[in-house]
Amino acid sequence: LLYGVDLHKAFGPSKALDGASLHVRAGEVVAVMGPSGSGKSTLMHCLAGILRADSGRVVYRDDDLTTMSDAHRSALRRTEFGFIFQFGQLVPELSCLENVALALRLGGARQRAAEARAAEWLEHLEVADVAAKRPGEISGGQGQRVAVARALVTGPSVVFADEPTGALDSWNGEKVMGLLTTVARRTATAVLLVTHDARVAAYSDREVVVRDGRTREPV
Ligand code: ATP
Ligand code: MG
Repeated sequence: LLYGVDLHKAFGPSKALDGASLHVRAGEVVAVMGPSGSGKSTLMHCLAGILRADSGRVVYRDDDLTTMSDAHRSALRRTEFGFIFQFGQLVPELSCLENVALALRLGGARQRAAEARAAEWLEHLEVADVAAKRPGEISGGQGQRVAVARALVTGPSVVFADEPTGALDSWNGEKVMGLLTTVARRTATAVLLVTHDARVAAYSDREVVVRDGRTREPV
């Protein structure tokens, strides 16, 4: 579905990626592990088309992200990819329901339809009770479940999750991972999951380790 081959990316003199390769099949949950500074986030950003690699190829279905126009790449990102970050990054002025609905509104959905669908997704993530609250009024675990709803509501093919449970205690981390992977498997959404935590990685189908900007799959 999505793959990156022999990716190189330098920030000044430091090589963040030094020949990293990774593929994600449709519906597959892949955990990207490795020490701090090894290049995990950089790899994810290159695969998501947020960062342009210095060399190497990134291919989604039949499209090469490395050569397509910026407009095409951002359209693809908006329609095909979903994102979850360590700290929810919800819009603080909007209610949780509006945050999830916004993802649909950006894709052109009407307000009523967007809010109805957003409400369904909050229910899937077992946070229907926080729909009317603002992100500042809910817990970190609830916020991450809202963030998962927002990432999945548009029906992306790939969800990129960079340390989605990094700011949560282990109970909430497990809860978020359980819900994320259950929903992703039910909707055949691929998940690329960056994590330090072996217990979080246990929710994946496959683990890839990044070390010094290179990937290797454990035997
Ligand atoms: P962590 O587990 O701490 O999140 P990571 O594996 O995600 O680490 P990256 O964020 O990909 O690591 O960073 C890889 C290397 O690239 C690091 O040496 C980092 O300092 C450097 N780097 C990443 N982004 C930038 C940037 N925007 N400008 C300069 N250097 C960067
Ligand atoms: Mg990182």
